[in-house]
Amino acid sequence: MAEGSAKLNAFPVFMRVDQRRVVIIGGGEEALAKARLMAQSSAELVIVAELPEPQLAVWAAANGVHLLLEAYRPHHLDNAALVFAATGEEAADRAVVEDARARSIPANAVDRPELCDFYTPALVNRAPVAVAVGTEGAGPVLAQMIRARIDQMLSPSLGRLATMAASYREAVDQRVPKGLARRRFWKSFFTGHPARAVAVGDPSAARQAADELLDSRGFELGHVALVGAGPGAEDLITLRAQRLLMEADVIVHDALVPEAVVAMGRRDAERIAAGKRKGCHSKTQNEINALLVKLGREGKRVVRLKSGDPLVFGRAGEEMAALRDAGVPYEVVPGITAAFAAAADFGLPLTLRGVASSLVFTTGHDLKGEALPDWARLAIDGATVAVYMGRSTAAEVAGRLQNAGLSPDTAVAVVENASLSNRRLFHGTLEDLPALATRTDLTGPVLTIIGDAVAGSDFSHSEPLVTHAKAPVPARIRE
Ligand code: SAH
Repeated sequence: MAEGSAKLNAFPVFMRVDQRRVVIIGGGEEALAKARLMAQSSAELVIVAELPEPQLAVWAAANGVHLLLEAYRPHHLDNAALVFAATGEEAADRAVVEDARARSIPANAVDRPELCDFYTPALVNRAPVAVAVGTEGAGPVLAQMIRARIDQMLSPSLGRLATMAASYREAVDQRVPKGLARRRFWKSFFTGHPARAVAVGDPSAARQAADELLDSRGFELGHVALVGAGPGAEDLITLRAQRLLMEADVIVHDALVPEAVVAMGRRDAERIAAGKRKGCHSKTQNEINALLVKLGREGKRVVRLKSGDPLVFGRAGEEMAALRDAGVPYEVVPGITAAFAAAADFGLPLTLRGVASSLVFTTGHDLKGEALPDWARLAIDGATVAVYMGRSTAAEVAGRLQNAGLSPDTAVAVVENASLSNRRLFHGTLEDLPALATRTDLTGPVLTIIGDAVAGSDFSHSEPLVTHAKAPVPARIRE
């Protein structure tokens, strides 16, 4: 109940308008806005305007909406379910409202709350599901802000899922006992395998999952989502990741995933830190694989949260193989990988017309032996190279690339804590790169980007990697 038991002066109801006449009087912007809103329903929309603005006429024609080019007469309102007065003039709006009331038809006068019998909501439309937000005309901007937040929370496929739910209603009522079992069925239906299959556009898989759920009376196998949490900033996470976090029973997260992202889960969700920062493994990879399998077999909805993108240096391959072998269903939700966040922080083009047309994601940890790693060859051919986990191997990476023929003055950018407020940006050249390994002041994760495209970035916010260094000279000037 609202604070201080405040009462609503306007009570929300959902009115049946299918095939019924809804009349809008007016030919300007206000009329168009209401027409757009009502066109989300299956009402039979009629707009009455003697001299409509071209925008309105074009919209009506494009949307098959009946536009009557006549001066308003009260008979236009006959048999209407709802009337909108949108003439833009107070006296004219008032007359329309009075004519509607004389016919017992509820009326709305645009931007004149004192004349309204009803208000229109800010609408989240996932037909047949609708969320209507109202402020009794007090704050349209507030209503839109709330609308936007709810819109983000609801899957775009919710409407299709609700339509499918309606087709299962009867079977569920017959076969699943009322009470706990039925609630469990619907909860699994709306958040489990049927929902996921609908979300990826596979209706036949969704039906199969719903049928299995019906057979098992709502008990379902668990599910693991390997989810990318993005580079660190909590608003660089996808809407899908956020939704899954809110539905998860268990969140298994890596050390690099920030607390604020882990906190997006339900308050009662179990949270398990799987650790893994260099030097302090709290669980081995095998233990993590086994944990995910165990939780999935217990029927839990698990989010395995990894920094950046789960498929980039995230050991997701091993986890997916373990889940596959165990028959636990899983899905992958991509995230923004550290290289993209670092490039964005620097204003650095990863590809640059005429300079760099390929991009390599690599780590400094495959430099064993004398053979040149194949990415080194790509770098020499002009690829931009993003080096993950490259702090301790900085000297080897720089040495190998120079030996292989890459110029020592090739531009290098280094970002510590990309996307976070405590990020630090450094610039230099390949020759300066070894200094990275000895800088003890860099304690956060660092990403290194090497290549001629780096020289095209903005060095006004970065510091030199070593004190004598100048900003790299753009490749085109150098040649
Ligand atoms: N899956 C992750 C990478 C995990 S490997 C992704 O797609 O980003 C861990 C390495 O990622 C770190 O050693 C570092 O090189 C890089 N990294 C992760 N987050 C970073 C950040 N915020 N800033 C800079 N580098 C980061």
